[in-house]
Amino acid sequence: MDDLVNDSFGVHCPICGSKNYKRSYRTEMIAASFGPLVQYMHANCTCFACKADGDFYQENDAKIEEAVAQSRQAAVGKMIDNLSLRGHKPSHIERVLGLRQGSLKRWRERCTPEGAALLMVLMAKPEALEVLDNPVLWSGVI
Ligand SMILES: [Zn+2]
Repeated sequence: MDDLVNDSFGVHCPICGSKNYKRSYRTEMIAASFGPLVQYMHANCTCFACKADGDFYQENDAKIEEAVAQSRQAAVGKMIDNLSLRGHKPSHIERVLGLRQGSLKRWRERCTPEGAALLMVLMAKPEALEVLDNPVLWSGVI
């Protein structure tokens, strides 16, 4: 998908200032850790005057952030289910980490990036829960 742009938004080539450039899109996929691939439309502009190309509208970062957030939220329930299958029930995780009861249930609907990051770490290193739950293993470490 290409748009020929004639400065209707006041955007110019950031290198030479020309208003004469082409805007095109390509489909890209991105995923958060443990999350599904999510599609977004990656924009690219090419200046006809100086041949510079890039994200003249600075729109890609927001699209990438949104796609990663969508993937991350989709991963949360799967990570909670997987940890549960590995013997770490939500109530156990909440107790060991000092989270409010029902936190993981709420995270299934809407999770912060920090909560999702915590789940990603637990997915990568679930043995951390045993360490945290056993003072013998962590006392005297710091
Ligand atoms: Zn240019």
